[in-house]
Amino acid sequence: MNAIQKPRGRMFFANPGPTNIPDSVMRAVSHASIDFNDADFFELYERCVAGLKRVLRTKQHLFFYTASGHGAWEASMANLFNTGDTLLVIETGHFSESWAKMGKALGLCIDTLPADWRKGADFCALRAKLAGDTEHRIKAVCAVHNETAAGTMLDIGAVRAAMDAAGHPALLLADTISSLASLPFEMDAWGVDVVVGGSQKGLMLPTGFSFTGVSEKALEAHKGSRIPKHYFDWSEMLTRRHRSFIGTVPTTLFYGLAESLRLLEEEGLEQVWARHTRLARAVRAAVKHWSGNGPNSNVGGPELYCQDDARASDSVTAILMPDGHDADAVRATCRNRFNVSLGAGLNKLAGRVFRIGHLGDLNEPMVLGTLASVEMALKLNNVPHRPGGVAAAMEELTA
Ligand SMILES: *Cc1c(COP(=O)(O)O)cnc(C)c1O
Repeated sequence: MNAIQKPRGRMFFANPGPTNIPDSVMRAVSHASIDFNDADFFELYERCVAGLKRVLRTKQHLFFYTASGHGAWEASMANLFNTGDTLLVIETGHFSESWAKMGKALGLCIDTLPADWRKGADFCALRAKLAGDTEHRIKAVCAVHNETAAGTMLDIGAVRAAMDAAGHPALLLADTISSLASLPFEMDAWGVDVVVGGSQKGLMLPTGFSFTGVSEKALEAHKGSRIPKHYFDWSEMLTRRHRSFIGTVPTTLFYGLAESLRLLEEEGLEQVWARHTRLARAVRAAVKHWSGNGPNSNVGGPELYCQDDARASDSVTAILMPDGHDADAVRATCRNRFNVSLGAGLNKLAGRVFRIGHLGDLNEPMVLGTLASVEMALKLNNVPHRPGGVAAAMEELTA
């Protein structure tokens, strides 16, 4: 007997990371083993470095790690500071908290600029905080560009402006793990000293490597850093032929990266950003229609977790359930009945929030299919909502 119904068709993968891997990238990563010092590979590697710098919008330095984003986070802190140094972390949500926790584990003093997760940081408070630090105790400001757990964006250009207005010399560290190649980002123009990125989100690759873009100023600061490190040590990396990686280079992922960079440049980075904005607006139109924070609605349905439209993320939407309704039940219905995978609520948002990832290799019908499945799951779970969210998204996409 066939007890378990096997789903047919592709799983709609609407998590905010990892993300969908394009077929051509999947084929590219299936490359046979090759010596990472082989001339053919080295040529491809150098092309990848140049291409990724174009995505970061930098002409400065780049270091890779065979590790998920957490490895690049650790590298960003271990390479720049000394035990006891103070860092200012701008609170955005689960990911800013995790980065702060890592800093503490590395022996750093973490100062936090507190913020409401639903509204985001106050730049006047940031400026005032930095201006008040007359002894320049704060060595770096850590900013998560896109808070994947709350579905909010932090304007990194505004962070830089607040630092400049306060005349503060701290380094600026930005986590772009869920924003790079999805939302506009300008490392050099925004004066970002260290950019943390990973393979499995906007770059549409399997999980497996991460990297840091590093400014001249940061590389200079690195020379005075005494936090113990070896695998992540930039000085050690600079002695290697690849000027990165301690140990074996994950060659197959670089075949994938070359292809993902080709796809991004074929579409054009600005067009990639515009596509993310378009799809995100459609998702938000559906959620607003379902409920709560829509214009003429008081149905008490699921609502956008982000309460400031100007700061809503264009790569992931976090949706807050009405009281008494379980986000994980909606996710389970989507997964089990419609073969649609959604992101869970993280940290204090577990069970209260579910997330629709809309970054990477994605188009209109994929978004509409996901929204239709969510709307059916709301109905099946008796979650109050105003039906017609998909039509609202279609309207937004054709306005
Ligand atoms: C995914 C993510 C991370 C963690 O990256 P891993 O690759 O899972 O280690 C860190 N910061 C942000 C903003 C993320 O979205």
